[in-house]
Amino acid sequence: MMRAFTLGSGSAGNAILLECGDTRVLIDAGYAARTLARRLAEIQVAPESISAVVLTHEHIDHVRGVGVSQSRWGWHVFGTKGTLDGVRDLDNERATAVAPLTPLTIGAIECTLVRVPHDAAAPTAVLASHAASGYRVAIAHDLGQVPEMLAQAMADVDLLMLESNHDEEMLRTGPYPVHLQRRIRAETGHLSNREAGLVLSERASTRWREVVLLHLSETNNTPRHATTSAERALRGARAVRPVTAAPQDAPAGPFGAGRGGRLQLSLAI
Ligand SMILES: [Zn+2]
Ligand SMILES: [Zn+2]
Repeated sequence: MMRAFTLGSGSAGNAILLECGDTRVLIDAGYAARTLARRLAEIQVAPESISAVVLTHEHIDHVRGVGVSQSRWGWHVFGTKGTLDGVRDLDNERATAVAPLTPLTIGAIECTLVRVPHDAAAPTAVLASHAASGYRVAIAHDLGQVPEMLAQAMADVDLLMLESNHDEEMLRTGPYPVHLQRRIRAETGHLSNREAGLVLSERASTRWREVVLLHLSETNNTPRHATTSAERALRGARAVRPVTAAPQDAPAGPFGAGRGGRLQLSLAI
C-alpha cells in the first residue's frame, strides 16, 4: 500500500510525498526548505525521514528548495542528467542521474522516469510502485502532450495524478499576453482541462481508485472548472471516481486509498 500527499501543486511550487511504510520519497521540492518543513509538519512527517527526492525537471517551481534541503536534511536527489545539470545549488555528492525507463529502487518504492514533452532539458513523468503490494501511481505534470507509452502506463495504476493546468477559454480570454498563451498551449507546454479529460476518457481504467488533478493555473483555471471537466470525462467513460484538484497553498491527502481508506482516516481523527 502506498500513500500520496500533495504538499502543494502549481506554478508557485510543487512537491508530492509518496510513502510506503518507512520509505518516503518526495517528487519535486519546489518550495523553500522552510515551507517544505512546515507543510511536512502539517502531515506529521519529519523532513529527516525522507529517503530521497526525485526531480521531474529543473524549472524553479519544482526545484526551489532542493539545494538547501539537501544540506539541511541529507536528502539524496535523483533525476535525469539534463534535469540535474540544470539545478545550480545541487550537492553533486548526493545526486545521481537516472536514465529514463531505468527502474530506480528507493527502499520499498520503485520509481521509473518517463520522458515527456515540456520546455525543459529532459523533463519526465514518474511511475512509482510498491513491490510488495503491486500498488502503482502515475505522476504527470508539466507536459504539453501525453506520449503513448505514458498513456498506456497510466491505464495500469491505482492512483492517477495528472496535470489539468488551464481552462482553454479562460486562457484565451484572460490577462496573459499572446506569446505566453502560445507557450502554455504548445506541445511542450502544459495540459489543459480538455486535454486531461481526453486522457481520462480514452484511457479510463477500472484499476483507478482516485484521480488527483495537478498544477492548476491560479489565473487561467479554477478547481471547479478542472474537477467538473475531469468528472464529466470519467462519467462519459463510465468510470466514475473521486476527483480532487490539488491545492497550491496547503497539503492535501492522503490520496489513493479509495473511499474506504480515507473514511477510516477521518474516523480516526
Ligand atoms: Zn511546473
Ligand atoms: Zn515546468
